[in-house]
Amino acid sequence: MSVVTRFAPSPSGSLHIGGARTALFNWLFARHHELYGNGGKYLLRIEDTDRAISVEGATKQIYESLEWLGLDWDGEAVSQFARVERHREIASQLLNTGLAYNCYCTPEQLSEMRELARNDGRPMRYDRRWRDREPSDAPSGAAPAIRFKMPLEGVSVINDLVQGKVEVSNKELDDLVLLRGDGTPTYMLASVVDDHDMGVTHIIRGDDHLTNAFRQSQICRALEWNLPEYAHIPLIYGQDGTKLSKRHGAVGVESYKQLGYLPEALCNYLLRLGWGHGNEEIIDRNQAIKWFGLEAVGKSPSRFDISKLASINAHYLRNADDKRLVNIVMRELQEKFNGTIVDCAKDRIFRGMPGLKGRSKSTIELTENSLFYVFERPIKISRDAAELLTSEAKYLLREFANILENSDWSKEALETKARTIADQSNIKLGALAQPLRAAITGKTISPSIFEIMEILGPEETQARLEDVLCGN
Ligand code: GLU
Repeated sequence: MSVVTRFAPSPSGSLHIGGARTALFNWLFARHHELYGNGGKYLLRIEDTDRAISVEGATKQIYESLEWLGLDWDGEAVSQFARVERHREIASQLLNTGLAYNCYCTPEQLSEMRELARNDGRPMRYDRRWRDREPSDAPSGAAPAIRFKMPLEGVSVINDLVQGKVEVSNKELDDLVLLRGDGTPTYMLASVVDDHDMGVTHIIRGDDHLTNAFRQSQICRALEWNLPEYAHIPLIYGQDGTKLSKRHGAVGVESYKQLGYLPEALCNYLLRLGWGHGNEEIIDRNQAIKWFGLEAVGKSPSRFDISKLASINAHYLRNADDKRLVNIVMRELQEKFNGTIVDCAKDRIFRGMPGLKGRSKSTIELTENSLFYVFERPIKISRDAAELLTSEAKYLLREFANILENSDWSKEALETKARTIADQSNIKLGALAQPLRAAITGKTISPSIFEIMEILGPEETQARLEDVLCGN
C-alpha cells in the first residue's frame, strides 16, 4: 500500500522541537515507503483555522525551520483556513443526514454547565439538550452551532500502531461542536475532512491527541470514510519528568540553529528520542530512511538530554564539509564583528578548518575557536595565556624567533625548529609550544600551533611574536 503522511502544525508560534520530531517521523515514514515500499508522500498542512491563536509570521517561521531541517514536503502546503467552505459543506451534510444537529445553547448556558461540572468534580460535558429537539423549538434569529451526534452506546476502538489497542466507552465522548455559530469549523471537523481529502493513510502525532482520535474516528465512521491508521508517539519530557516546555530552556527549532547545532545533528538526536535501532546512536539520513518504522517507536516518554545532543552535534561537526562550515562561521562572524574582520580570514579559516572542527561542540564554539584567525594584530591575549608569558618563556620565544628568519614555512619544519630550541634548553617541546600558542593565538588551547603558524604565514606569525616580545 502506498502511504500518505502529514504534519499539521498550528501556527501559534515557532516550531517546537516536539513538533519537529513529529514532522521527522512522518517524513521518514513516507520516505521509507517511497524508497523501499509501494510509494510514500509527506504532506504539510498549516492548521490556521483558529485565527485567534494564529500568530503572524509563525507560518513562515515553520516553513523555514522545516526547510532548515531538510524535511521537504510533497506538493504545496495546504492552508486549513482556505478550505472552510469544504468544512461547512461536510457539516451541512452531517446535519442533513441526521448525524449532527443544531445547538442553540447560549454562552451563559454553557458556562452554567461548566460550573455544574466543576462543582461535581467531573469534566465538562455538554448535556446534549438540543440533540433531540424539534426544529420548531429553535429560537428565532439565533445562529446555532452544529454538534456531532456521538453514538451513545458501544465503544470506540483504535488499533494504534504505537500504543496498541486502546478503547473508550462512547458514553465518555461528548457531542462535539463541528461548526461554531459564526460558521467557523472546529479543529475536530477540519482535521478529519482535510485528512480524508488529502488521502492521508497514517496519522503520526503526539499522544496528547489520542483522545481526539476517538472522537475523530467517530466522525469518519459517520461519513463512511476509511479510517486512517493512527500512531500516537509519547511526548518529550524534560529532565524533571514533566512535559518539555519553555521552563526547560530553548524549545523552538530556530533557537537550536542560533545555538550552533547542525540540522542533521538535531534530526539524528530527535530520531533517537523515542525511536531506536539496536544501540545505534549515530544514524545518518539515508540509514534513517532505510530503517525507520513505527514498530520501533517506544511507548514511554523520552527525556530531552542536551548533553547528548551536544555530543551528537560534535560528531556531525567533525565530519561536516569544510566549505560549508566556513560559510556558517563567516556568517556568524559577520553578524557579530561586521567591519573588523581581515580580508584573509575566510582563507585562513578554510585552511585551519580540519584542525578546528574536531574541537567544537557547536558552530558558535567553532566560530569562537577561529577568532585568532580573524582580527588585525595586535591580538587580544586572554588572562590565562598571559600567565604563560613569563620572562623565561619570553626568553625561549626570542630564541625561537631568531631562528625563524628565512625558515621553510611548513608545519613540520617549524616543529623541527621548535624541537631544536627545546633540546638546546633541555626542556620539553610543550614548554615552548604553550607560550608560543599563548603569543600567537592569545589562548591556552588551540589546534596544533605549528599548523596555525603555517596558515598565518611568516610575516603575521613573526609580527605577533614581536608584539608579545616587544610589549606591543
Ligand atoms: N494542529 C495540531 C497541533 O499542532 C495537530 C493536530 C493533528 O496532528 O491532528 O497540535
